[in-house]
Amino acid sequence: MKRILITGGAGFIGSHLCERLLNEGHEVVCLDNYFTGSKENIVHLFNNPFFELVRHDITKPYMIEVDEIYNLACPASPVHYQYNPIKTVKTSVMGSVNMLGLAKRIRAKILQASTSEVYGDPKVHPQKEDYWGHVNPIGIRSCYDEGKRCAETLFMDYHRQNNVQIKIIRIFNTYGPRMDPVDGRVVSNFIVQALQNKDITIYGKGQQTRSFQYVSDLVEGMIRTMNTDNDFTGPVNLGNPGEFTIKELAEKIIEMTNSTSKISYMPLPQDDPVQRKPDITLAYEKLDKWQPVVYLEDGLKETIAYFEEVLKKKTVTL
Ligand code: NAD
Ligand code: UDP
Repeated sequence: MKRILITGGAGFIGSHLCERLLNEGHEVVCLDNYFTGSKENIVHLFNNPFFELVRHDITKPYMIEVDEIYNLACPASPVHYQYNPIKTVKTSVMGSVNMLGLAKRIRAKILQASTSEVYGDPKVHPQKEDYWGHVNPIGIRSCYDEGKRCAETLFMDYHRQNNVQIKIIRIFNTYGPRMDPVDGRVVSNFIVQALQNKDITIYGKGQQTRSFQYVSDLVEGMIRTMNTDNDFTGPVNLGNPGEFTIKELAEKIIEMTNSTSKISYMPLPQDDPVQRKPDITLAYEKLDKWQPVVYLEDGLKETIAYFEEVLKKKTVTL
């Protein structure tokens, strides 16, 4: 049994990770400032005596004795990370310094939830870990992209300079139950719009592509990465190589929800990547043949069912 700290544990991905690690018999400390996460995501874990909740902001130091740290705290959707971009940079940079300092002091292993956004609007397709990316350092997505890139630098430097045991994963678009219905991400927006029979808002012409990974596949990859040999630091891509245009996604969701929604086209946000698809050869090699096993339609089915329940309980206005 390990004691494990999960920052951002009350968020979408963090809540699934807390649940999975508790089910494996570990003690889990979930740290969150509830900026985009919520107690609702983890309320079902409250009666487990091995689950602990801490309200804290990782831009401030925090002390605890644990064996492992999963550092997920950071708003992930453009709407939220652009709400207070300076705070987003601070969360990635100062948050990483604080968590790495902690890992160094207590000799814990630490995993950073990095992102495919470090590749920016990629000129290489699909993206492999050795591609350095094509990122605008001064645009409206930079607070997130550059914050995460700097966090990767900090992780590597704490490893080289202080021998901290680190792991870096680069997460590609992930979806599933407990996504925030109003965080503006494409899967949640389209499902909520379709269930409400409102217009599906495609930004641009909908020809941009993304690869969508179901959350349980990601969580499996995260735990396998944490358990790799000490000499493996990553970065390693975790994503589903199935690539779809945003228009295809819209059509699929309309069909699966039997919706009467029409598609409406809106302006494409600045620096919106044209295409994105992970090369997962490294993950397959290093993580005991890890690869996603949930098909898009199966994952969407679960996610649609989740949002149906959410919409029964509360009014969601996009
Ligand atoms: P989320 O917004 O649901 O979760 C982030 C959590 O971090 C929230 O609970 C939030 O309240 C918390 N948080 C934010 N700032 C904090 C701070 N300063 N101190 C403490 N807690 C703070 O997002 P998610 O989709 O679950 O993403 C989790 C992690 O995975 C993030 O680091 C994100 O960058 C990364 N990631 C996610 C995706 C994706 O598709 N969902 C893709 C790439 C990377
Ligand atoms: N998108 C869209 N309509 C929406 C929300 C998003 O067309 O209502 C597009 C967005 O412009 C981007 C893609 O869908 O091209 C994925 O957006 P998301 O914010 O989910 O993720 P990211 O851009 O960070 O990959």
